[in-house]
Amino acid sequence: MRGAGTIAGMSKPVTDLIHHTYQPPAGFQAPQPGVFKASTVIFPSVAAMRARDWKHKSGYTYGLHGTPTTFTLEERIATLEGGTQCVLVPSGLAAIANVNLALLRAGDEVLLPDNAYGPSKSMAEGELKNWGITYQLYDPMNPADLEARIGPKTRLVWLEAPGSVTMEFVPLAHLAQICRQRGVTSALDNTWGAGLAFNGFDLGRGERRTPGSGADIVVQALTKYPSGGGDVLMGSVVTRDDALHQQIKLTHMRLGWGIGVDDAETILRSLASIEVRYRAHDRSARELAGWLRMRPEIAQLLHPAFEESPGHEHWQALCGDDGLAAGLFSVVFDARYASGQVDAFCDRLRLFKLGYSWGGPMSLVVPYDVQAMRSKQLGTWKHQGILVRFSIGLEAPEDLRADLEQALSAL
Ligand SMILES: *Cc1c(COP(=O)(O)O)cnc(C)c1O
Repeated sequence: MRGAGTIAGMSKPVTDLIHHTYQPPAGFQAPQPGVFKASTVIFPSVAAMRARDWKHKSGYTYGLHGTPTTFTLEERIATLEGGTQCVLVPSGLAAIANVNLALLRAGDEVLLPDNAYGPSKSMAEGELKNWGITYQLYDPMNPADLEARIGPKTRLVWLEAPGSVTMEFVPLAHLAQICRQRGVTSALDNTWGAGLAFNGFDLGRGERRTPGSGADIVVQALTKYPSGGGDVLMGSVVTRDDALHQQIKLTHMRLGWGIGVDDAETILRSLASIEVRYRAHDRSARELAGWLRMRPEIAQLLHPAFEESPGHEHWQALCGDDGLAAGLFSVVFDARYASGQVDAFCDRLRLFKLGYSWGGPMSLVVPYDVQAMRSKQLGTWKHQGILVRFSIGLEAPEDLRADLEQALSAL
């Protein structure tokens, strides 16, 4: 063992400050875990330096590979998702990239749902293609279409429920079953469900979970509900299989995707309230969606908990009759409204702000041209009207309703 601190009486003050020997008493306890920051991690001896393995959480090697703070957050996110290992990355999109780069090689193919989170499709088109990795889009509401597209080159299938922006709730259990039967690894983007609406590994909720019926890998944009503040970007990749985890962790290590400890602390603090927040967002969203669907300006409501929404029966089967449903929904305006009119509606909203992302306290709105976001061949989007997506925040729902009403009345 090496000596610690300064040699009494022989050091200059600056050296004493850097090598100070004071140690606070052990045994401090508080509701929040401590925040430990490090790029450099100090070892007690050369032997310890050589013995420690960054791949295991038995010790610390370098800030990039974890501190007590990030290890703690990893464990809690793994618990939230019902998995056993977790890797943290700087954004939800980086979580998707981490999975793609860990699993895919030149000559492989990845399948993405046609209603996937848009930047995930851009990654396949703009980045993976440059590495010799091809992709195909599949119709996620039609399991036979997925089945037909799985071929000898297929190495990975992405799943997402419901679809980003358009909110169709896909037959997730059926899609995951096809992947399992065909021996293809599946990865679920579980940002909407946040680990609360259903379990991504054992599909279902509470006692209705079916062991092993879900995906092999579950990613989440912690940016959304786990953060809950609209102020932090982070992503997670959770697994249950040690070999798969090691593969993802190796890629993570080689590419240097560490996260900031302050951000980890923010998420640790928010995580304690995630379920009450999720339920509050859900309650307000259903109230406003239920009101909007009766308005003559609206042709179609897209919210999985409402019967008229595509895939409602899949949501009900997965999440239960008393199921949870996040604070997100979209509406399709009647085709008589041109996109300029719908833009003007969005501009007239005062409490709803124009902005991407969701899961924070402030309500947000974005108009989308869905036709341009979809594959022409698959033809999965049939509506003529303009789609507007709402992310319902934590404001009083009656104030949000009044805001919607004043903006609609000017249409
Ligand atoms: C926001 C989001 C992401 C990406 O998260 P970022 O942290 O913004 O990169 C991925 N998937 C879904 C479904 C999302 O909503």
